[in-house]
Amino acid sequence: MTPTDTHCPYCALQCGMRLHPAAAPRDPGAPPVEVGERPDFPVNHGALCGKGRTAAAVLSRAARLTAPLVRDRAGGSLREASWDEALDRVADGLRRTAARHGAAAAGVFGGGGLTNEKAYLLGKFARVVLRTPNIDYNGRFCMSSAAAAHRAAFGLDRGLPFPLEDVAGTGCVLLAGANPAETMPPALRYFTRLRENGGRLIVVDPRRTRTAAQADLHLRPLPGTDLALARGLLHLMITEGYLDEEFIAARTTGFAGARAAAMAHWPERVEQITGVPVTQLHAAARLFGAAATGMVLTARGSEQHSKGTDTVRAWIDLCLATGKAGRPGSGYGCLTGQGNGQGGREHGQKADQLPGYRSLTDPAARAHVAGVWGVDPATLPGPGLSAYEMLDTAGTPGGVRALLVMGSNPVVSAPRAAHVTRRLRALDFLAVGDVVLSETAELADVVLPAAQWAEETGTTTNLEGRVILRQAAVEPPPGVRTDLQVLAGLAARLGTTDGFPTAPEAVFDELRRASAGGPADYAGIDYARIRAEAGVFWPCPGPDHPGTPRLFLDRFATPDGRARFSTAGHRPEAEPPDARHPLHLTTGRVTAQYQSGAQTRRVTELNAAAPGPFVELHPHLAERLGITEGEVVAVTSRRGRALAPARITTTIRPDTVFMPFHWAGDGRANTLTNPALDPVSKMPEFKVCAVRVEKLPGG
Ligand code: SF4
Repeated sequence: MTPTDTHCPYCALQCGMRLHPAAAPRDPGAPPVEVGERPDFPVNHGALCGKGRTAAAVLSRAARLTAPLVRDRAGGSLREASWDEALDRVADGLRRTAARHGAAAAGVFGGGGLTNEKAYLLGKFARVVLRTPNIDYNGRFCMSSAAAAHRAAFGLDRGLPFPLEDVAGTGCVLLAGANPAETMPPALRYFTRLRENGGRLIVVDPRRTRTAAQADLHLRPLPGTDLALARGLLHLMITEGYLDEEFIAARTTGFAGARAAAMAHWPERVEQITGVPVTQLHAAARLFGAAATGMVLTARGSEQHSKGTDTVRAWIDLCLATGKAGRPGSGYGCLTGQGNGQGGREHGQKADQLPGYRSLTDPAARAHVAGVWGVDPATLPGPGLSAYEMLDTAGTPGGVRALLVMGSNPVVSAPRAAHVTRRLRALDFLAVGDVVLSETAELADVVLPAAQWAEETGTTTNLEGRVILRQAAVEPPPGVRTDLQVLAGLAARLGTTDGFPTAPEAVFDELRRASAGGPADYAGIDYARIRAEAGVFWPCPGPDHPGTPRLFLDRFATPDGRARFSTAGHRPEAEPPDARHPLHLTTGRVTAQYQSGAQTRRVTELNAAAPGPFVELHPHLAERLGITEGEVVAVTSRRGRALAPARITTTIRPDTVFMPFHWAGDGRANTLTNPALDPVSKMPEFKVCAVRVEKLPGG
């Protein structure tokens, strides 16, 4: 085997890596490849974090499923089965449910880690074969508020409308609710270079993270108050003379509404709401306002709120008001989290969208995609339930009664997770396709063992909108099939024998046609070109088009070409603290684990680095509660209780506690989190809820 250039299976940075054959002799179950550097890939230049360096471990036989599993009766255990039996059962479960309760009772739940080809074919399967409106994916829990805000303000959503390289050359970055030092360490080089080049870094985060420690200015707002903070900074842009009136007049609409909202957020009021001192508000306004170029970048900390869309729009307003958008070296961007969080939301596994980022309610879009699929547009279902809505109502009248989950582990990653687990148990039928026996797969009637990153070829789209190619380096183990093969097998059993190719390149070619002319146009991108150019930025409407690294330089993607200001002002979180639950809980990630931990918790080195959950408490709070370092404490919200050792640190606010969300069982942080949804994006309020912390009896 010669070395294979490919990409990391985990986060949205999609670092380039080179896979080498593992040195012989090897245990037959050991990983068949070793991860090496790929210095020529432009995003990470060879750098990898611990997850990427150990990614080969998840290819080992010990870590994964290698045969389908079926459950013969409710409450019975899973047993190994043939592929024919497993696929027959899934097809039968979906068919029976649709026959009994209607097509909408069969649901599909995808994942932001699926390749573009898989996401595309999964959406086609739901809409053409099952004819169900109910397909959504775990990316709804990731960057959906940023996506909704992007579309509302700019008419188009691409996480970063410029390459990461531009971060290093801008004048000032305001990083809100993002911690790249922990979540995507190779990206930190761009922020380091920013400061070496004389640029300034402002970090907005309730915790003093490793990223915040490198900032010129760290603002520590109370969780759930970023909208007020963004409005307060816009207030100061107006009163301190930092507006770019020419830009506002030439390239935007609606500034009067944003101005009115901002003027209601004077510094003293914003200090009262957020806890950020007036002096720091002025300092931040000066740094950002005086810079000739600048960016606001957000991640989940600012986005995962019941007002996440309004919050991101307020950050975008800050860019628009100061002329820091639609120009080289300036703009708003979202640091997308999941590996294919960007591409996964472009090609049809969202409840409201068709491939190419087309709207499911646009007659022209429906006609175009139906033409590619060879079906009558009238047969395409309309928008369906969003991810949490689907989980929340699963197994109830009017909700989905059978569910096919691919590449997602909502038992750990969904909010109000104990309730979600009960709802999944209440389904008439549950099938899960995954590479490992995740906590969600453990509940399934049928488990389908899937091939994974280094075993199959497919494209992903990184956080910059760069379409890249993950190339297969090894054969999948015997007993494992690719998701494309699974979808073709299910489609055939359900009466659709055409239109479900199993070769990734054939699926991508169809995706290109389906996306042609749409907002996320991939028509000019093909595998050969991606290999030759180390990725191609969409939109790329034809083979001679160079791709589009930077969006909006001439006009925004709205009908009139102007960016749109927003009008929302501060409102409290959905669940303010009270006497019984007096503290704020916020959740997040650690470097050595990834999302629900289904893969990374099975990697020895990563488990050693981050073996379990913990609760960060400020020393003042710990002293008041009589809690000592390492003592297991109970964290209780209105939805349940989680247990984890205390980690006492001054990096957290005294009124706030923090838990990472990668673990199942007693320490599952999402047992506590609040599913209150953003009305636009349907994003749950993961990032703030009310809790109390208690010593355990005898503790
Ligand atoms: Fe993989 Fe993300 Fe780490 Fe890069 S930063 S090696 S893409 S997990």
